[in-house]
Parts: sequence; C-alpha cells; structure tokens
Amino acid sequence: MTKADIIDGKAFAARLRESISARVARLEAAHGLTPGLAVVLVGNDPASEVYVRNKARQTREVGMASFEHRLAAETSEAELLALVERLNRDPAVHGILVQLPLPEQISEAAVIGAIDPAKDVDGFHVVNAGLLMTGGEGMVPCTPRGCMMLLRDRLGDLSGLRAIVVGRSNIVGKPMAHLLLREHCTVTVAHSRTRDLAAECRRADILVAAVGRPEMIRGDWIKPGATVIDVGINRVPAPEKGEGKTRLVGDVAFDEALAVAGAITPVPGGVGPMTIATLLDNTLIAACRQIGVDPATLSG
Ligand code: NDP
Repeated sequence: MTKADIIDGKAFAARLRESISARVARLEAAHGLTPGLAVVLVGNDPASEVYVRNKARQTREVGMASFEHRLAAETSEAELLALVERLNRDPAVHGILVQLPLPEQISEAAVIGAIDPAKDVDGFHVVNAGLLMTGGEGMVPCTPRGCMMLLRDRLGDLSGLRAIVVGRSNIVGKPMAHLLLREHCTVTVAHSRTRDLAAECRRADILVAAVGRPEMIRGDWIKPGATVIDVGINRVPAPEKGEGKTRLVGDVAFDEALAVAGAITPVPGGVGPMTIATLLDNTLIAACRQIGVDPATLSG
C-alpha cells in the first residue's frame, strides 16, 4: 500500500520567513522603509494571547517593526474604533490586525470595516473580499493564501483539477474557493447542509477541510492520490498522555487518509505555521504598495 507524502508546512513557512527577511532588508536598503505591523488584542483570551505573542516575535525576527496594543476586556467599540483610526493614519504602521474574536459589546464587522483596506493584512475588509472575488489586487486572507502556496508547491499548475472546500466561512472557506477558482480549478464548496458529503469529497483531486470537527473526514471519503489540506485545529482528550491531557487533531482522520491520499498536511505542523508567515508576507506587500514599490522587485 502506498503512503501519502506529508506536506511539511513548518519547513515551508521557515523558508518563506527567510525570504521575507531578505526582502525586508532590500526594501530598507533601497527605500529606507521598515514595514510595521500593529496587532490589537482586546481582553485576555489565553489562545489569542499566544497567537499575538507569536505574531509579534516572528514580526521582529524578519526585521519588521511590531506594535502591540493590549486593551481591557471592557473596552468600548468607540475606543477600539478610535485606536484603529489612529493606526490608519500612522505612517509607521503598514499592516493592522485586530485579533478575533472580540468581546460581545464590539461589532467585529464595524471594526474590520474601519480598517484602511490598504492596511488590512488579514484581508477581511469587504473591499479586499470584493477584489479577491473579481480578480483584483487586494490583500488575500492569510490562511487560504498559505494553503494555496502549499498546493502550488506540491502540484504546480492546478488548471482543471477538481477541488472541494469543506467549510464556507468568510475567513477560510470562501476565500479558499475563490483562490482555487483563480487557479482554474473546478470548485465545489460544501457545508453543513451538503447532501452526501462523502461522495462529493471522493470526486476531488484537491480536498481542503476547514470545518472545525475533529477527524470528520474519513479515509474512504478521499479520492486515491488526492492532495489533502487540513485547516482544522481541534483539541481532543488524550488519556494516553496522562489524565486531563489533550492533543491537536485536524478535520481529517490523518492515519486513514495517509493510506489513500497522495499528499496531506499534518496537524500540527501543516497549515498552522503558514498562517503567520503569510501574514508577514502580506505586511511586506502592503508596505511596498503604500510607497508605490512593486513587491516583485524585491525578490532576489
Ligand atoms: P467556522 O466555524 O466559521 O466555519 C465552519 C464551516 O464548517 C461552516 O461553513 C460550516 O457550515 C461547516 N460545517 C460545520 N459542520 C459541518 C458538517 N458536519 N459538514 C460539513 N460542513 C460543516 O470555522 P472557520 O472557517 O473559522 O475554521 C475552520 C477550522 O479551521 C477550525 O478548526 C479552525 O480552528 C481552523 N482554523 C485554522 C487556522 C490555521 O491557521 N490553521 C486559521 C483559521 C481557522 P455552515 O456554514 O453550513 O454552518
């Protein structure tokens, strides 16, 4: 029985960060500009704290400036909007990321809508969503962009391949579907109302799972030789590691998939590490565009 190749997102992300460092240095040398990323955290959700710390560390490691804004859980929407306005006007800030989820008194849509689309490095603003849909040049959401990099690295030309995206969220599923369409795939978008999901999946050369349900996609749902990108991050009990211990699993039953797929991303170590690396890449692209430099000219 053949065994799927494991797509090493951690190694790919490390190479991407090296390339970003080199391009940041060239931007500084040629234009005297250091890209800056502002990350805003409201409240003290422990998972968000970890993400924000990692983002800030990796931002500094590639030679960019990191600005962290930590606000109390009871911050009002008006206070947060005032901070976003200040960051929009700050010439040292080229990318703005407001860590989600936000406390319930704050409308996420209002905050995302207030970010200058040129600085919206998460790519969640309706202007950027619209540009992605219409084939324009906006900011592309980080996680789907990271998935596309892994797919292109593995498969090269994706033209004509059948792809299924399981999940239709605004941050992963929908932008992923549009990116695959842009690469000339034939795209199916599945969700909780899809009938016979297993049969839909079995037709796909590329399967992207972004559901948030541990190991929902079984091995016999996968077309032999397909490329599987598992976006899901689910924490499940792991009694084998000791009482009360947990481990991370994806949306795909990994061991079953290994026996069928051509290649698959593991969880952890697949899509996850790509997300922060593409955020940094988006920040560099945003900085270049804001001073009228073509980001492609920085590639060595
Ligand atoms: P959402 O909860 O916003 O969306 C989940 C999607 O899955 C929905 O479209 C939902 O359908 C669909 N769904 C739920 N149950 C089923 C089912 N039984 N069958 C088919 N479809 C189903 O999640 P996100 O898109 O934000 O995240 C998805 C996963 O990816 C999560 O595990 C999250 O932690 C992870 N993630 C990982 C990132 C990374 O960096 N690796 C970044 C972002 C997310 P419907 O619309 O009908 O409700």
